[in-house]
Amino acid sequence: MTGRFSGRRAMVSGAARGIGAATARRFLSEGADVIAVDRLDIETNEVFAPWTDRVTAIQADVTAANSSDELISHLKAAGEPLDYLVNNAGIGGAKSIDDTSDEDWQRFIDINLTALFRVTRDLLPHMRQPGGRIVNISSVFGLVGFPGSLAYGVAKAGVAQMTRQLASDLSPRGILVNAIAPGVIETDMTRRRIHEDPWYQAIQVTATPAGRTGTPEDIAGAAAFLCSEDASFVAGHVLVVDGGWLSARYLPPVE
Ligand code: NDP
Repeated sequence: MTGRFSGRRAMVSGAARGIGAATARRFLSEGADVIAVDRLDIETNEVFAPWTDRVTAIQADVTAANSSDELISHLKAAGEPLDYLVNNAGIGGAKSIDDTSDEDWQRFIDINLTALFRVTRDLLPHMRQPGGRIVNISSVFGLVGFPGSLAYGVAKAGVAQMTRQLASDLSPRGILVNAIAPGVIETDMTRRRIHEDPWYQAIQVTATPAGRTGTPEDIAGAAAFLCSEDASFVAGHVLVVDGGWLSARYLPPVE
């Protein structure tokens, strides 16, 4: 297989569906071998055909303390080093401060922030140095306040700052760390609100200047760019992929 990533190995978390699945498919289509991680049992024939011969699917919960051991042993079996790590696994959910229990807070931080820290730290010795790339999935909700998304927004802001911290520490070692902050992307996480919640439609979908919701492939393309040679001088950057929502939000005219 020839392609930009041929002979390279990528690991993508949350790869059973949505943005993670599209990102894994993008790496596969460009020639990489992919380790696809999810707490769901991934239907590789359904999700990754016609590239199933280059995918290793691992069923693992990245919040589990021993998940890194499992990922490392699969990586060793598949063949080190790891070229690209895409920390995508996450959960969404809208809760304001009034509705956020201690358990909610902990769950959002554990999955969306702490797991990303732990997996990155533990896989680092197994990454290509120099030459490795790490892409973290943040959110536009981690860059500005958004009503009713307290723990999620705080975790995603942490992902953006972790990206900058890691870029400081790892760029001198030849590992480039960047993040993507998606806007509204239609996946299982957002589909119900996009189609059934008039407030969300107005404030997220109609307010997106590009006039459409994003696709998982829009984010996959950005992840591939950040891992490509075209991004070899990009580090500590949070790439907003949101159809202009953050910078040029469409607001209805005053009646
Ligand atoms: P989906 O819910 O469609 O897919 C996420 C996948 O990650 C699911 O298969 C999920 O499994 C898995 N996952 C969740 N937690 C874990 C875990 N602890 N260990 C392993 N796998 C896990 O979401 P999206 O594709 O929409 O989102 C992907 C990322 O993009 C998330 O980090 C999200 O916050 C971020 N994002 C998404 C936006 C959007 O509009 N869709 C906007 C901004 C950011 P399970 O079903 O069991 O939870």
